[in-house]
Amino acid sequence: KAKQRETLLEINRQAAQYFYYQLRRESGQIGYRYLTDRGLSDETIRKFGLGYSDKFSDDLYKFLKGKGYGDDQLRDSGLFNVDERHGMYDKFWNRVIFPIMDVNNRVIGFGGRVMGDGKPKYLNSPETKIFDKSRNLYGLNVARTSRKPYLILCEGYMDVISMHQSGFTNAVASLGTSLTSGHASLLKRYTQEVLLLYDSDEAGVKAALRAIPILREAGINSRVVDLKPHKDPDEFIKTEGAEAFQQRLDQARDSFMFRVSVSEKEFPMEEPQGQNRFFERCARLLLELSDELERNLYIEAIVRQYHRYGISVEDLRKRVNTLA
Ligand code: ATP
Ligand code: MN
Ligand code: MN
Ligand code: MN
Repeated sequence: KAKQRETLLEINRQAAQYFYYQLRRESGQIGYRYLTDRGLSDETIRKFGLGYSDKFSDDLYKFLKGKGYGDDQLRDSGLFNVDERHGMYDKFWNRVIFPIMDVNNRVIGFGGRVMGDGKPKYLNSPETKIFDKSRNLYGLNVARTSRKPYLILCEGYMDVISMHQSGFTNAVASLGTSLTSGHASLLKRYTQEVLLLYDSDEAGVKAALRAIPILREAGINSRVVDLKPHKDPDEFIKTEGAEAFQQRLDQARDSFMFRVSVSEKEFPMEEPQGQNRFFERCARLLLELSDELERNLYIEAIVRQYHRYGISVEDLRKRVNTLA
């Protein structure tokens, strides 16, 4: 079993080297251009070991066969598709490649992006004996040594890479999966606080709402960063620059108050009925806080933020107590 893991790690390392080499060849220019057009420097491309899989769907297969691996071993690597008509063929082709490393810098899987608008936009390695998606985070191999007081959690490869390139070397992403308790305990080994920088669309807000309690459960404090009007960290940095980005990080919102403000949008706040239901929701959120001092501080924070609706600390505290 240990031998099998070793072999899979070796296959992944060989594949990563192969993709990396393809990007540097004449035929890989289209991949290299795609990455530099997106603003990545040669140094960044090297640092993340980015690569390219060309238009042939059997070249990686041939390359690894040539290194002496057998079909069973290659099948277990997740790098190939198998079907009756075509036999075994490369899973990744005509894509730029993002090798995924564990915290010990071992390649455990890959992501591949189409260079344009094709579908699916990203392909990822399936889970294998060495690739557990719920226990690994992209970029953590670098972010773990960043010595920042918090880690940044975002959605995508390009977000992580762009942030690192701009000096935010504490960024990681959970790749194509939502945050799990496995991710949270992994994060907890390296930090007490996480800034959530999910995409500013509805899916991103939902993902943040799901992540907050999972992090809290693991003993990690979280705050939420608003990237609007930009879609994700990569686009924000590209249009506004690193300084404006740092300002947004500095303005990260307390995750409890973030949940409150998301709730506000669910109610017709121009009507007393809507306001009433909103404060009812606030009371329920406040009930989740078991520490009395903490609860009182949030009651005051909510009253401060929503004083335009004429609510008082007493009103809100009473409402909480009737629910308790
Ligand atoms: P880009 O900037 O290259 O367009 P992105 O990271 O902004 O990419 P999103 O659509 O926001 O792309 O997706 C976030 C992450 O989710 C991706 O980095 C990828 O890991 C994963 N993902 C996106 N689309 C797919 C897909 N079709 N299949 C599997 N995973 C995907
Ligand atoms: Mn998204
Ligand atoms: Mn993006
Ligand atoms: Mn995105």
